[in-house]
Amino acid sequence: MTGLMKGKRGLIMGVANNHSIAWGIAKAVADQGAELAFTYQGDALGRRVKPLAESVGSNLVIPCDVEDLASLDGVFEQLDAAWSEGFDFLVHAIGYSAKEELKGRYIDATTRENFSRTMVISCFSFTEAAQRAAKRMRPGGSMLTLTYGGSMRVMPNYNVMGMAKAALESSVRYLASDLGPENIRVNAISAGPVRTLAGAGITDARLMFAYQKAHAPLRRTVTIEDVGGSGLYLLSDLSNGVTGEIHYVDSGYNTISMPSPGSLKE
Ligand code: NAD
Repeated sequence: MTGLMKGKRGLIMGVANNHSIAWGIAKAVADQGAELAFTYQGDALGRRVKPLAESVGSNLVIPCDVEDLASLDGVFEQLDAAWSEGFDFLVHAIGYSAKEELKGRYIDATTRENFSRTMVISCFSFTEAAQRAAKRMRPGGSMLTLTYGGSMRVMPNYNVMGMAKAALESSVRYLASDLGPENIRVNAISAGPVRTLAGAGITDARLMFAYQKAHAPLRRTVTIEDVGGSGLYLLSDLSNGVTGEIHYVDSGYNTISMPSPGSLKE
């Protein structure tokens, strides 16, 4: 199938490099004919993002730090100039928490300052982007954010990110309810562990990979192409009846309650 995204335009927030989950989604929708704009955080990442954007035919590459509302507003002002008739989709793949707090017990590790910062960057920035995007979205629009199963179940060292992802998943449902009457859909992909810059911030991430590989029904971790394929579905008209959902792309890991007996020693 080709041309699934022909005539659709979308903003991708959160590419840091070619290992980013957002890049997996961007590639998948660009391969199906979507026209893309990208944001990047800071000049160093900009140098990586610009050639990637060019490789999918985009020269709309805009700086954005979501902690700075003026910078977020600037993104949408630039989009207004380039895409005056609006656009069709938004991908928010942004997360941050202080690395030293993604270690040890949540109860000991977490400070008020980093809790608030983590919430603003990893959760509320999706709402702030959605507020701005919704005003410019054409009917049939789709918004997508990225979450992780540490929101629902305890994952060692994920700590405050678990709270932020739980709040993000709740935001998806509230935003879906608010925007549904305008025929705009809002969903999240809950991805299994992927080796990215953000993923490397979590202590013992290697153990998480090994554990998923050994115990998930598919006996492997997921790739950014796996997430890209599901992202394409959720951003395209194929998922026109789907909103407010948290869609797991995790080799089935979230469905198990106990590792397979063969892998256990008594
Ligand atoms: P990544 O490091 O490639 O992407 C994270 C992005 O967040 C980067 O582009 C970074 O610039 C951006 N960001 C952080 N703070 C920002 C700020 N203040 N302003 C603007 N941008 C900011 O890592 P990734 O794993 O691709 O992460 C993308 C999303 O996927 C995140 O929400 C992450 O929590 C989520 N996720 C990751 C995994 C995983 O295992 N890697 C699993 C499930 C969900």
